[in-house]
Amino acid sequence: MSIQESISSIVKELPSGVKLVAVSKFHPLEAIEEALAAGQYAFGENRPQEFEKKAMALQGRGIEWHFIGHLQTNKLKMVLPYADLVQSVDSLHLLDAINDWGKRNGRCVSVLLELHVATEESKQGFYEEEILDIMFRASSFANVRFCGLMGMATNTDDELTVRADFERINAFYNYLRDLFPEYDDFRELSIGMSGDWRIAMEYGATIVRIGTAIFGEREY
Ligand SMILES: *Cc1c(COP(=O)(O)O)cnc(C)c1O
Repeated sequence: MSIQESISSIVKELPSGVKLVAVSKFHPLEAIEEALAAGQYAFGENRPQEFEKKAMALQGRGIEWHFIGHLQTNKLKMVLPYADLVQSVDSLHLLDAINDWGKRNGRCVSVLLELHVATEESKQGFYEEEILDIMFRASSFANVRFCGLMGMATNTDDELTVRADFERINAFYNYLRDLFPEYDDFRELSIGMSGDWRIAMEYGATIVRIGTAIFGEREY
């Protein structure tokens, strides 16, 4: 299937209101061009340098850029000027640095807080209680807009494990929405990748992040 065909078949299955972020990491600009031609406008990247290069090369094309990778505080200037949404905020240190950057640059940065759900040790993200602490003092981050949660399910073929991960993040998301009804920006739940996005639909995903199923395998 071509990039265009893959995108249209995925979009056809997505309920209205669910955003497709095409994860173009490791793929060349030509691949993004093809997706743009298919009407896709939201793209995700996970490496600061590659993100900056692509965002600069495609400036003025109406792309909505999502940063979805681990972000070190010394790389903020490569990412924050271009990112419409930083989905992968995974530490208080990073959140503080983003808020400071926003203050210095007169910007309010839209973020998702990444919840640690998968059982693998390597997965990044906050624990529930850390996110609760942040949300209770969300107003002290004057230059950050809290738009919701991001999570990755355990990388496994065992569907029950994936469902349990999505169930947990969905429950916590709804709990936060009930607890902080005054934050009307907090309405995104970014779950679901190539292998599990159909399942993520059942657990309230508002954003899916799909790479391989659109662009093919990545060559690292
Ligand atoms: C690479 C990546 C994706 C896309 O993964 P695919 O399996 O290729 O769809 C989604 N989310 C994050 C955070 C990623 O790093």
